[in-house]
Amino acid sequence: MGKALGLILWFLTSPLAAQQLEIHFLNVGQGDAAIVQEGGHTAIIDVGPSGISAYLTTFHIDTIDLVVASHPHADHIGGMPELLRSHVVRFYLDNGIPHTTAIYRRTVDAVRASGAQYLNATSRTITLGAAQLHVLAPPPNTTINNGSVGILMEYGQFRALFTGDSEQDELRYWLTSGAIRHVNVLKVAHHGSPNGTSANWIAATKPQAAVISVGAGNSYGHPSSFVIAAWENAGARVYRTDCDGTVFVVANEDGSFVITTDRAEPNGVVRFRPFAQDSAVSPATPVEAVAPACCRVCSAGKACGNSRIARDRQCHKPAGCACNATP
Ligand SMILES: [Zn+2]
Repeated sequence: MGKALGLILWFLTSPLAAQQLEIHFLNVGQGDAAIVQEGGHTAIIDVGPSGISAYLTTFHIDTIDLVVASHPHADHIGGMPELLRSHVVRFYLDNGIPHTTAIYRRTVDAVRASGAQYLNATSRTITLGAAQLHVLAPPPNTTINNGSVGILMEYGQFRALFTGDSEQDELRYWLTSGAIRHVNVLKVAHHGSPNGTSANWIAATKPQAAVISVGAGNSYGHPSSFVIAAWENAGARVYRTDCDGTVFVVANEDGSFVITTDRAEPNGVVRFRPFAQDSAVSPATPVEAVAPACCRVCSAGKACGNSRIARDRQCHKPAGCACNATP
């Protein structure tokens, strides 16, 4: 994350530096953690297994308007007690389903001690500056993963979708609810596991960028190469935190956005143009690679199973690698 400050400073000095929505998909190893900022307001959706407080300190974030726990597994809430002790949290939202683990109990205790106002994950809309966070309530009486809280974020024409570790049952439930729309950025459910992606889910969300939050060398086999290929085949540019490090999204209200990553080269920024998301015409893939930085990322990423890329081949897609720069 050492390069993160430089990247943010780049954004602040870029021509796009009007009011914008920022999303940081943090590289927290095997787990999920995302910071969302708009107009001086901050929300956090999952905090990963540990260590998020240091990241917040780096960015001088001391007050958090909203913390969302998608579900009570340690790879999503492990860092929660520490966060609640070290930072001011105004609102805390979870699915309200009790869990038996020690980390869940410590989290509940920390929420009570923090003074944060508790919110249950009913279908509601929460305002974060000029952004709206629509809470997607989980189905009743389901498994822990299928009880994940979903967040559909809207910022003008820009949309992003977070679904924790949802599996097929919950994805179907949301699809039948009619709440799911095309989005610009999507966090792939359940760390890229095959049970967190389906053809119907891809067709309904159709993101321009799909982010997989996953730890290198994890014992679950996440992410699935079939899942990566499915999102890519649907036109999404796939990012994964084990290869790319932290993934930064800076979005404008017209739906345009840029993405760069912790391990990209200094000018390794990909610009995405707004597109008619709900047009009957299938949108072209509006991806313009400014620099072929992701190839270097993959050549260095152990999780990509790639030994070496020749220096004279700037763009190459190693087998099984999420990076999809076109030669
Ligand atoms: Zn998880």
